[in-house]
Amino acid sequence: MKNAIMPPAATIGILSDGQLARMTILDGVRLGFTFRTLGPGGLDSPAGQVTPHALRWGPQGEVSDVLLSLFCDGLSVCLIDSENVSVELVERIEAKGILVCPNSKVLRTAQDRLQEKLFARSVGVPVGEFRCIDSEKDVSGVLALALHDTILKTRRGGYDGKGQARIRAGESIEAAWRSADIKCAPCILEKKIAFAHEVSVIVARSSRSIEPYPNEVSSYAPFENTHKEGILRTTGWPAKCRELTDELMSKAMASTIRYAETLADELGAEGLLALECFVMHDGTVLFNEMAPRPHNSGHVTIDCAVTSQFTQYVLAACGLPLGSVRMHSQGTMNNLIGHDIDDLDTHLWSNVLVHLYGKTEVKDGRKMGHIIYSSPLPDLP
Ligand code: ADP
Ligand code: MG
Repeated sequence: MKNAIMPPAATIGILSDGQLARMTILDGVRLGFTFRTLGPGGLDSPAGQVTPHALRWGPQGEVSDVLLSLFCDGLSVCLIDSENVSVELVERIEAKGILVCPNSKVLRTAQDRLQEKLFARSVGVPVGEFRCIDSEKDVSGVLALALHDTILKTRRGGYDGKGQARIRAGESIEAAWRSADIKCAPCILEKKIAFAHEVSVIVARSSRSIEPYPNEVSSYAPFENTHKEGILRTTGWPAKCRELTDELMSKAMASTIRYAETLADELGAEGLLALECFVMHDGTVLFNEMAPRPHNSGHVTIDCAVTSQFTQYVLAACGLPLGSVRMHSQGTMNNLIGHDIDDLDTHLWSNVLVHLYGKTEVKDGRKMGHIIYSSPLPDLP
């Protein structure tokens, strides 16, 4: 196949070595590929436990030229496990002529909450009200928003609700900005949105385009998510959005997919792009954030879709034909967070599919694994 990266000869790199890399490897190995990771944990990491080619970067993420050459030697393509990997590192890999999915430009936009929201708005994807808070001066200029409940979020580095402070109407934005969670970092201040539901969608966009055909694009049906303290707890697939009528629900799901595909095309994203959105009671959809990689809500595809999001990531990055996104079972995914894992024996006896990430140290808020309840859909051939 012209331009495609074919198994079994090809080696695929992954930057960082957490659970997303682990699950990408577990599915990609089935296609015959070899994987090499570069991240903080090396062989002890969730990914390092499932590939013998796991390199470790320095304590501050340093990667010497020698280490980088070892990682890049003979690589066909490079993926990521976290959108917080260094853009400069991605640029060094690109400078060696290696395709990184997502590329450094996409990654730079997705790493910055201000840039991703401005980009979404510029291509016609609606976003909630927000203000940029980069300095002391900006803090004093936002009194209008203080009439509402707001959320202050660091522009960079936040995940699982970290780097955020919730501010009630009338409370001091300045105190939140100076708090230990924010430390006066550049932020955006968002109006708290009274959404009906939270959904996400994952679009795959192939790295291959053969004139006159554009890069192949395919999206899973949206996932419905519930969060607690900023961390994803459960995902239901398909999304049901019970607060909405069937008509509004179909409209909302169609908008969500259209927004994701517009963003993937306009950004020129290759690999996967996950979008988190708020669905309002009137069926309108607002963009919250995006991640150019597999997404926690998409774990349900491992046991419920013909092609998992991890297989799809590999296929898209390699320029191979995308797999079917068809759902063969409906399902619910529950994250096992921190000490949830202490109840593991209960889950093991209760006929659910258990996925663990091989993390030995339990920490509050740490994603240790997930479980999936699935029930086959009756009307498949
Ligand atoms: P993270 O990168 O930590 O996932 P998010 O922006 O997705 O950051 O915030 C985590 C969760 O906090 C969201 O899934 C949602 O439940 C809630 N949240 C975030 N922003 C808003 C908002 N503007 N209004 C209401 N809830 C919000
Ligand atoms: Mg989020």
